[in-house]
Order: sequence, then structure tokens, then C-alpha cells
Amino acid sequence: NAGLGSWPARRAAMSPGRTALIFGKRRVTYAELHQRIARLAAALHSTGVRRGDRVAYLGPNHPALVETMFASWQLGAVFVPLNFRLTAGELSYQLRHSGARVLIHDPAMPPVDAAVTVPLDAYEEFLEDPIHPDEPVGPADAACILYTSGTTGHPKGAVLTHGNLVWNCVNLLVCVDVASDEMTLLSAPLFHVAALDQCLLPTFLKGGTSVIMPSWDVDGCFDLIEEHRVTWMFGVSTMYAGLSRSPRWASADLSSVRSLMTGGAPVPAALIRRYQERGLLFCQGYGMTETAPGATFLEARESREHAGSAGLPVFFAQVRCVRPDLTDTDPGEPGEVLVRGPNVTPGYWDDPEATAAAFVDGGWFRSGDVAIVDEAGHFHIVDRTKDMYISGGENVYPAEVEAAIFEHPGVAEVAVVGVPDQEWGEVGQAFVVPRQGSALRPDDVPAFLRDRLARYKIPRYVDVVADLPKTGSNKIRKAPLRALPLPERS
Ligand code: AMP
Ligand code: MG
Repeated sequence: NAGLGSWPARRAAMSPGRTALIFGKRRVTYAELHQRIARLAAALHSTGVRRGDRVAYLGPNHPALVETMFASWQLGAVFVPLNFRLTAGELSYQLRHSGARVLIHDPAMPPVDAAVTVPLDAYEEFLEDPIHPDEPVGPADAACILYTSGTTGHPKGAVLTHGNLVWNCVNLLVCVDVASDEMTLLSAPLFHVAALDQCLLPTFLKGGTSVIMPSWDVDGCFDLIEEHRVTWMFGVSTMYAGLSRSPRWASADLSSVRSLMTGGAPVPAALIRRYQERGLLFCQGYGMTETAPGATFLEARESREHAGSAGLPVFFAQVRCVRPDLTDTDPGEPGEVLVRGPNVTPGYWDDPEATAAAFVDGGWFRSGDVAIVDEAGHFHIVDRTKDMYISGGENVYPAEVEAAIFEHPGVAEVAVVGVPDQEWGEVGQAFVVPRQGSALRPDDVPAFLRDRLARYKIPRYVDVVADLPKTGSNKIRKAPLRALPLPERS
């Protein structure tokens, strides 16, 4: 049985007494987890869940999410973890579109419908006597549907197969020395592929321990690192920026940390330096939901020399950077990233049009991201194609402008978007969150950038704001920023 549903039994046989999950005061061994998953599989089976059916989970990170996922896989069902930051309307769409038969949810979540709903406060009673189904699941069978944070129209449900998830684990283990005594902090939400397949599943495969963090907060993160002697974690750059500007940053005991992993959004070089100055290894990966997610990775041993790069293509995948006519770019020339390999999605759930549009040239997935490949073959992610704007005929990549603004010591967070302009077509608008205690004024930003960036890249407008809109996985959301009215011209 090549399915991931067989993993708990294997782990329970190999390392029954080791701790699989830590959640608050609760510790669950691999043997206990295996047993609980078998009891949930029985309960799901009783409600009629069969091979190919969809089972959804809605709520912050919790052991029940992990159990629901593995129990679904044991039945050959497809797991649909939902983003708990969505509105009831958005959630209803995803439940309807995926056709989920069962929904297991945190009772604090907005009320949404499925044929069977199980709130977590009724979860223990829902479990039944264990069963051990042996569905013959193969690598091409769907394992999960992950709805991607669509910026326009309805979100798309990326299907990841059992094979996709396993190959990504293999690719990750080639690059990261995940150990059997790993103490992995799950600080990112498990409805996102990075926490799921870049942290939880590789740790599980090796028999390490995952510390489940229900939702992101800086103090909670420091507490858990110190209490459990965390060795490894993943976070998007806004999370690492938050840690590094906390009053606890200087005194926190991070001596247990072997390496930190980031990706999922642009990573300003100034942020990486802050961590490296503390002697912390900071690895950057690049990928997307549709590639499960790893496409490129910068190994720890290379992370100093090539800081800021997203590294090389992962072992079992091909990654290219192409011009609009699909010919390969030269070193240093920006182009769109294409990915092909066993980790790449077969397509979107019930959406043949989106699936057809996502692939070119015989099976290459279009990332929609712009990258530069250097002479050594290292990828440097420039920005998303759709975030680029054109000012006076010149392409401007907001991520580059953001990284330059982030060098300013008074800046905690920054986002840049292109906005319409009569004279230049588009100009930049920067939204800057000042660090606590900083007296940053809008005019400081262009003054700071004058020697750092070409004139056309310097944002015309600067807004100093208290915070920035974020997605459920803590990435900055640019669509609402673009929709804001422009500040008065000075
Ligand atoms: P998602 O749709 O949530 O899976 O996010 C994937 C997107 O995140 C990619 O298409 C990129 O735009 C962005 N991304 C991922 N990793 C990186 C990285 N290392 N640097 C810059 N952007 C990244
Ligand atoms: Mg995407």
C-alpha cells in the first residue's frame, strides 16, 4: 500500500513509544496516535465515507486535524483542510465545490454546512472501536485538495496526490537533515502545504516530534522553542520579522535550533542577516501549493554564501526560467519559473479550464513567478508576474523595492503595489509599518531610497500604517492595498 494512510501503522511498529505530537500539555505517542486514527477511521466509515470521498477540517492547528488527515487517507478519501480565516461565504463555496461529506471543525468557527458535521467538543464521542482498512491506494490517487489564495474570482482547489506528497518529502529530506530526534515547531497553519508537507510529514516519516502551535504569536513561539528545545521550524518572512523585533529577541534561548526554514513569500536580505548575526542557519525554499510545495531549496551549508537565494531545483523535479516564447532565459535575465516533476499537481479539482491553463509545453507547470538564475544555477525569486508593474515603460518588481525599504532600521513591515498614474502609466505606492518607538515619516522613505534604487523604482506614494492585511498563512495581501484610495499628492 503506497498510500500515506499506512504511515501511522508503520511508525507505531517502529517507534511506538516516541512522542509524535505535543499540543499544550498533551503528548501523543506514535502508538497512541495510530490507535486514535484507527478509531476515527471507523467513525468516518460509519458515516459512509468511502474511497474518493472528501473529508474537510476547519480550525486552527490541532491534533484532530492530523488524525482526520490520516484517517481519511486510510479510507482512500481525500482530505480538505480549510483556511479558518475565511468568511462563512468563502468556506461554503469550498465545501460545496469539494463536495465534502464530513466536516470536522472547531466549534468557534463560523457555521458552515456539510452532510455530517462534527464539532471538536463532540469529537471524542464520535470515535468508535478501531478498524484497519486496507484500501489499495496508489501514488496517483488524490490525497488532498488545498484551496489556493486566489486573488481574482473563485479560489482553485489544487489536488495533491499521495505521490506528490511523498516525493516532496523525499526532496526535502535530500536538502534538510531531518533527524529522528527532531523537535519541529508547527508554527504555520496546517491547511497550507508548507506546514503540512515541508514540516509535519517529513518529521513524521523520520519519527520525530511535532509541536503543534494553534495559531501564530511571537511570544507563544519563543515560549515553545524554550520549553521544548525546538530544533527546526518553518515560517514566512513576516513571522521571522516579528520574532526579530520582539523585546524577547535578545534574551530568548534559541540554542536548541539547528536551522530555520523560510519560503512562501519574498525574504528581504536584511532579515536573513539579522538571524545570521546570531549564528542561526536560515534556509530558504521556493515553491507553491501546486508543487507540494518545494521547487527549489537552498541547503543550510550554502545558506551563508548564497543568502537571499532560493537555491537550486530540488532533487526530483526540473525547474526552468523562460521567456514569454518559452525559450530558456540567459543567466541574469528575468523570466517565468516553470516546474515539472513527481511533486507537481495533476491539476485543479473540478476545474478543467484552470488545469489546462496551468500547464505549457508538455506538462510544465506555470508558477506565475519571475526569477533570475545566476551563473551558478541558483534561483533568485524576483516577484510574482502579477505584482510587477510598469512605470514609464520600466518593469518594477515590488519585492526588490520592499527589500530596499526593509533595510531602513525604522521599518518593521512593508508592502509595495503599483497604482495607476496619468503620466507614468503606473507608479509605486508603499505601505510601511514603523518599528515600535520609531518616528518614521513618509518622506523618510524616498530619501532613504535615493542612493539605493533607480528613480523609477522609488515609490511615488508612501503611507505609514499600523498594520498590513495578511492571508491565513501570514503572507501580506496586496489586493486590498491596491483598492485603497491614493493619499493626497504632496
Ligand atoms: P501559495 O499560492 O500560497 O502556495 O504561494 C506560492 C507563492 O508564494 C509562489 O507562487 C510565490 O509567489 C511565493 N513564494 C514562495 N516561495 C517564495 C520565495 N522563497 N521567495 C519569494 N516568493 C515566494
Ligand atoms: Mg499560487
